[in-house]
Amino acid sequence: METIQNFINGQVSASHSQRFSPVFNPATGEQTKQVVLSDEAETTAAIIAAEQAFPAWSKTSPLKRSRVMFAFKALLETNKEKLAALISSEHGKVLSDAMGEVTRGLEVVEYACGIPHLQKGEHSANVGTGVDSHSLMQPLGVCVGITPFNFPAMVPMWMFPIALATGNTFVLKPSEKDPSLALQLAELLKQAGLPDGVFNVVNGDKQAVDVLLTDHRVQAVSFVGSTPIAEYIYSTASAHGKRCQALGGAKNHCLLMPDADLDMATNAIMGAAYGSAGERCMALSVVVAVGDETADQLIDKLKVQIQAMRVGPGIVDGPENDMGPVVTAQHKAKICDFISTGEQQGASLLVDGRDVLIKGHEAGYFVGPTLFDNVSPEMTIYQEEIFGPVLAIVRVPNYQTALELINRNEYGNGTAIFTRDGETAREFSENVLAGMVGVNVPIPVPMAFHSFGGWKRSVFGPLNVHGSDGVRFYTRMKTVTSRWPASVRLEDHESSFAMPTM
Ligand code: NAD
Repeated sequence: METIQNFINGQVSASHSQRFSPVFNPATGEQTKQVVLSDEAETTAAIIAAEQAFPAWSKTSPLKRSRVMFAFKALLETNKEKLAALISSEHGKVLSDAMGEVTRGLEVVEYACGIPHLQKGEHSANVGTGVDSHSLMQPLGVCVGITPFNFPAMVPMWMFPIALATGNTFVLKPSEKDPSLALQLAELLKQAGLPDGVFNVVNGDKQAVDVLLTDHRVQAVSFVGSTPIAEYIYSTASAHGKRCQALGGAKNHCLLMPDADLDMATNAIMGAAYGSAGERCMALSVVVAVGDETADQLIDKLKVQIQAMRVGPGIVDGPENDMGPVVTAQHKAKICDFISTGEQQGASLLVDGRDVLIKGHEAGYFVGPTLFDNVSPEMTIYQEEIFGPVLAIVRVPNYQTALELINRNEYGNGTAIFTRDGETAREFSENVLAGMVGVNVPIPVPMAFHSFGGWKRSVFGPLNVHGSDGVRFYTRMKTVTSRWPASVRLEDHESSFAMPTM
C-alpha cells in the first residue's frame, strides 16, 4: 500500500516513524493509502531545512520570487484536472467542485505574482529638514501552515503563496485525512524553480503540530480548522512568542425575507447547504425565515429540488453527481447522530439523509441531503457545527428577531440575506456580527485580492488570510529615518535631550 511521506529540503523524505494514519476513498470506503505521522525529529528537520533556506530566499528579489509564482500558476493550470481527481479520491467532493477549489487557490497565487508591488513600503521625503523616512516590509522567517481536510488545495494556498512571495520559508502540515495534495503542490513548486528547503511538507497529528507550535525557529503560524483546535493553536503559538492567525468553525445563517426572490434564494440555498456535502466553513446550515408563509413556500421549493438531487461518487463516467460522500466513516456516524438528536429534541425532520444507499458504492460514506423545520436555538442541531448536508430552518416573526438570533450565535464566519429591499440589506450588512456578508449571494467568499476571515469564535487573531491582511501577516514593518551629512550641516548641530520633534 502506498505510504504518503514528507517533503523536506526539496525531496520526498522517507519517514522512520512507526505511526501511520489510514487514508480512505470515501466513495468506496476502501483504505487506499496510509500517511506517516511524523515524530519530533522529522518535524524539526523540516523546520531546520526552512530556516537554512531563509537567508538566500529572503534576499532573492521580489521580481524573481514572483516569477516562481508565475511558473507555479502555469503548472497549476496544466495539472488542474489531475489535482482535482486526487482531491476527489481522498476527500470525496465531486470533480467540478474540486476544480473550483483549485481555481480559488490559484487565484491567491495570481495575487502573489504581484508581490513586487504589494511589498512596496512607504516613503516620505523631508519629514524634517533634510530628513527622509521609508518603511520596509520584511519577511519573518520560517512560517507554518496547519490545514483542515475540507479544502486540501485551497486552504494551503490561502497561506503559502503569499508567505513565499514575501520572502519567507514554509512548513505545511496538511490534514491526515487527505494528505496527497500537499506533496503534489510541493513537487509543482520545485518544478516552478523554488529553491530546496523553501517549502516543506510534514505529515502528522498533534505530535508534529506541537513541535511546530513551540520550536523557537518558527516565527508565524497560520491555522484553519475547527474552533477548539484553533483556540488551542492560537493560545499555544502566542504563548511561544509567535505571530498567529487561527480560523475556526462556523454556523452560517441565511436570513430569508418575505420579499425575497424565492426561486433565486432556493437555488442559492440548495448549493450553499448541500454543495461539497456541507463540508465547507462557508456552507449555509441555518435558514432564518421571516414569517410562516415564507418558510412554507421555501420548504415546498426545497423539497422538489432535494428530490431531484443526484448523490453518488465524486468521479463518474457520464453526468456528474451533485453531491459526493462525506470524508470518513466516523464523520458520517457523527452527522447521523446529529440527525437523530434533532429528531429526539423535537425538530421536524422533513427529509432524512441517513439511509441513503448508492448502488455499487454501498460501503461509501454517503449521507443524503437532510432538511429540518421548526428548529429552535436551544437544540443541539442549531448550536453545533454539523459539517454535513443538514439544513435547519428556524422560523421567526420579523427581521429584528432574525438579526438578534444571528448576532447571538457564537460563530460569525459568513452570513447572507435574501431580500429585494435595499434598505433592509444595508441595515443587515451594517449591523450583523459576521466577517463575510452576502446580499443575495449565498457563499460570500472574498476574492484573493480581498481578505477572508470571520468574527467571534470563527477566528482568533487580528489578521485574516490573503489579500492585504495576508501580506501584512507574513511581513513585519521596519521604518528607516535617515539624514545625511549635508543636511546636518544646514542646522546647528548640537546634542538635544528633549523628545525629537521635526
Ligand atoms: P480539525 O480542527 O480537526 O483539524 C485541522 C488541523 O488540525 C489538521 O491538520 C489536524 O491534523 C490538526 N489537529 C487536529 N487535532 C489536533 C490537536 N488536538 N492538536 C493539534 N493539531 C490538531 O479540522 P478538520 O476536521 O480537518 O476541518 C473541519 C473544520 O475546519 C470545520 O470546523 C470547519 O468549519 C473548519 N474550517 C474553517 C475554515 C475557515 O476559514 N474558518 C475553512 C475551512 C475549514
